[in-house]
Amino acid sequence: MVKTERNKTITRPSEIRVKDFDEVSLGFTKELMKAEAERCINCKNAPCTTGCPVGVKIPEFIQCLKNDDLDGAVKIIKLDNNLPSICGRVCPQEKQCEDKCIRKLKLGGSVAIGSLERYVGDYALNDNKPTPKPSKKIAYKVAVIGSGPSGLTCAADCANAGLDVTIFEAFHQAGGVLVYGIPEFRLPKDEIVKKEINKLIELGVKIKYNTVIGKTIKIEELQNEFDAIFIGTGAGLPSFMNIPGENLNGVYSANEFLTRVNLMKAFKQNADTPVFVGKNVAIVGAGNVAMDAARTAKRLGADNVYIVYRRSKEEMPARIEEIEHAIEEGIELKLLTNPTKILGEQFVEGMECVQMELGEPDASGRRRPVEIANSNFVLSVDQVIMSIGTRPNPLLTNEYKALETTKRGTLIVNEESQETVVKNIFAGGDAVTGAATVILAMGAGKNAAKTIIARALSKTI
Ligand code: FAD
Ligand code: SF4
Repeated sequence: MVKTERNKTITRPSEIRVKDFDEVSLGFTKELMKAEAERCINCKNAPCTTGCPVGVKIPEFIQCLKNDDLDGAVKIIKLDNNLPSICGRVCPQEKQCEDKCIRKLKLGGSVAIGSLERYVGDYALNDNKPTPKPSKKIAYKVAVIGSGPSGLTCAADCANAGLDVTIFEAFHQAGGVLVYGIPEFRLPKDEIVKKEINKLIELGVKIKYNTVIGKTIKIEELQNEFDAIFIGTGAGLPSFMNIPGENLNGVYSANEFLTRVNLMKAFKQNADTPVFVGKNVAIVGAGNVAMDAARTAKRLGADNVYIVYRRSKEEMPARIEEIEHAIEEGIELKLLTNPTKILGEQFVEGMECVQMELGEPDASGRRRPVEIANSNFVLSVDQVIMSIGTRPNPLLTNEYKALETTKRGTLIVNEESQETVVKNIFAGGDAVTGAATVILAMGAGKNAAKTIIARALSKTI
């Protein structure tokens, strides 16, 4: 087997991109796509596919690319993944399919499966072909609560099978974290997310916005009108550290900060819900959400942005590409550092931190961070953005007690069917797993749709 180097995608220079919200990575040109597809050696046992949480038939779609058959590639990917242009951009491929690629270690680096998937997804979004309609209609009504990737996938599969689907969304826009969390510079909203949602609408899916299920409409009312319900309400409730000073002005959760910027366009002059951006900003946490908040603060004019993380770089949970892009854009990593107190009278004036070292592995298998005695110091910041995780919002489960939850507030479901303890109420995505990934949420929506469609067929035949 010949060693060939992995082709790099086109990325905008950091000094230019840090001044705007346009997309950072521009993906492959046709020539680069073809060259990269040729690197795939079509392994018989397809280890890459075993690394994909939804089992996309990777060598098969890449073979289509080699044959200039983009329509064929779309068909193959869409059997398992409804949103390839989104997954191609945000999936942690380096820990999934690309981690298993036979080329990874000695043959020039893994095939850039994610970027090839993105190429195919973008082609499908822009091919101007009419969305194929289901061949038959089935009199079976499905309510989908939440329009994140789990809800969108469940809705698409049910609608494709001819079921009558309505999505109920609390916000005034559909997409969940894809629109209010992940910033424009990683996932363009009009070019990608809106187009995907328009395809759903063309398919006949109805979307009711500004509707909080549990408040505006009760679950019992949905049960009266619909045959099946899918709950895809995500995990939007931020966690805080419970340290002194977290109530000061200038302390945000990453979710609030990003929602205000992405969804409410807080960066525009005269925005209804403006957002404060400090000159020196500390982001506490090191996941994708933290990287997004840091890079957003930088783009909005912060001079210094620090990622404050209690472990080392190796343990940072964010995607490697996002960490690299953040560093290129001038974000500073304060590793082995843990906040103990936020300082100030009314507004944030600083953050006291303590230095950490890594001890023995903990239950998660990662080395436990341990405080170094007398190592306290003050980081000079005027804004702190907490990004240490989220949990499901208990609004729905407080209102409708029949659903069972874990101690962490996540919904309990049957793993195969995604059905909750209440018959014909299904759930999936972050509401079940806790904060996870787009592809896992989509996989759960797909699984639930399979059971819902089977029920619909058995009821209506
Ligand atoms: P969500 O996307 O959270 O959608 C839930 C929807 O339900 C929302 O629209 C919400 O408004 C609505 N809703 C909630 N309650 C109600 C109610 N009672 N009634 C009606 N509607 C309701 N994953 C990756 O794979 N790669 C990444 O790079 C990545 N980056 C991320 C960056 C950020 C900033 C964040 C926050 C997350 C990121 N994730 C990433 C995680 C990923 O986005 C989530 O795992 C995924 O979106 C979960 O999908 P979901 O469908 O379960 O819920
Ligand atoms: Fe192609 Fe890599 Fe998958 Fe082998 S493991 S089929 S080379 S993508």
